[in-house]
Amino acid sequence: MLSNTQLVHADRLLNQPQFGAVHESTNNSVLFEFADVADLEAVFQGKQAGHVYSRSSSGSAVALQNMLNALEGGVGSVTFATGMAAISALMFSLLKAGDHIVVSRYLFGNTRSFMQTLQNFAIDVSFVDVTDVKAVETSLKPETKLVFCESIANPVTQVSDLEHIASLCHSRSILFVIDNTMTPAPMLDAKALGASMVMTSLTKYIAGHGSVLGGALTDLGNFNWAAFANIDDKYKVQDTRQWGLTQIRKRGLRDMGATLAPAACHQIAIGMETLNMRLKQTCDNALIVARHLLSLPQVKKVYYPGLAEHPQHARAKHLFNHQFGGILSFELHETLDMRDFLNALKLIISATHLGDTRTLALPVATTIFHENGASQRAAMGIGDKLIRMSIGIEAFEDIVKDIDQALASL
Ligand SMILES: *Cc1c(COP(=O)(O)O)cnc(C)c1O
Repeated sequence: MLSNTQLVHADRLLNQPQFGAVHESTNNSVLFEFADVADLEAVFQGKQAGHVYSRSSSGSAVALQNMLNALEGGVGSVTFATGMAAISALMFSLLKAGDHIVVSRYLFGNTRSFMQTLQNFAIDVSFVDVTDVKAVETSLKPETKLVFCESIANPVTQVSDLEHIASLCHSRSILFVIDNTMTPAPMLDAKALGASMVMTSLTKYIAGHGSVLGGALTDLGNFNWAAFANIDDKYKVQDTRQWGLTQIRKRGLRDMGATLAPAACHQIAIGMETLNMRLKQTCDNALIVARHLLSLPQVKKVYYPGLAEHPQHARAKHLFNHQFGGILSFELHETLDMRDFLNALKLIISATHLGDTRTLALPVATTIFHENGASQRAAMGIGDKLIRMSIGIEAFEDIVKDIDQALASL
């Protein structure tokens, strides 16, 4: 958790850039020169800190990783070119054929699709209702290595039973990874909860402005890697808390190669300085918009964890520090055409993406979840006419006014 003060000074204080700069420099050099070859060899062998080739590490990447790690209070972060690259690097560097993993039944569409790819590599994947720890418990097998879920699922906003899943996984020495893209710290304190790692799409709230892609994995220091069977002996070098990230850096970043470029690191770090302010305004706006939608006769159903009607409202309040995120979904009455409504919006942009400064809306069944097919959508609770909104930081009056004028035009 970082306060506003800590966030705006994090780059300067954590990274101590040269020449009194307040930002770590963006250095595009791919290679690094060593006056003494012995130092080059020592860095290669992990015996000395430094950079040898920017696919594996660079000053810009380390600076951002330091900030992300401080944000979550972890023992280290690794950055990737996108959120999906972080997820695939996590799975491919830590799992082996024959392993079993438990993942949420309500995953983000592309993550869900990736999990199906993983099954082609002889990884056994169970898709489970993670709003209930009992469902997770009954799905565990002796081969279960990892449980993966989102804090708040997108688009129907189911809130995972994070606290109980964390203690279950802890008692069984199973790695528990939370995709906290919807609820970065300070909304969710994943470390205090006992989760092993967080995976974050930096593209969303962390960077915040719809202008850069990125992803990260942060180890929260709660997991005992000595109890994880898949760590290769050659990566058991530093203290046990670093074993997982060491293997992920070597296999998932160096060998798989989806590196975050220095310029992107810099842009994400700039966005992150205003994270708390943007997130607060977003959450405040979203609650107002959700309550407004609920009050309208043209609206049939609203999904938002901040509403008392939401099945996991109490849990969300407890887990997310009395904030409820920027994503809400709703359905209009059958007589109203969802496309006409979306086309009539003037301020709100019809676009995929979320966690932006601008408010966005889109139909989900025919876009993000189109490929999943009708039966998977039904199991995920996604209706054909569902509209998802990602609330931005505009004045809430303007968002409400735009919704009202679009409905009035129907
Ligand atoms: C967007 C998103 C991702 C993927 O992140 P990218 O940076 O777009 O690759 C993963 N999980 C969730 C919950 C997301 O919203």
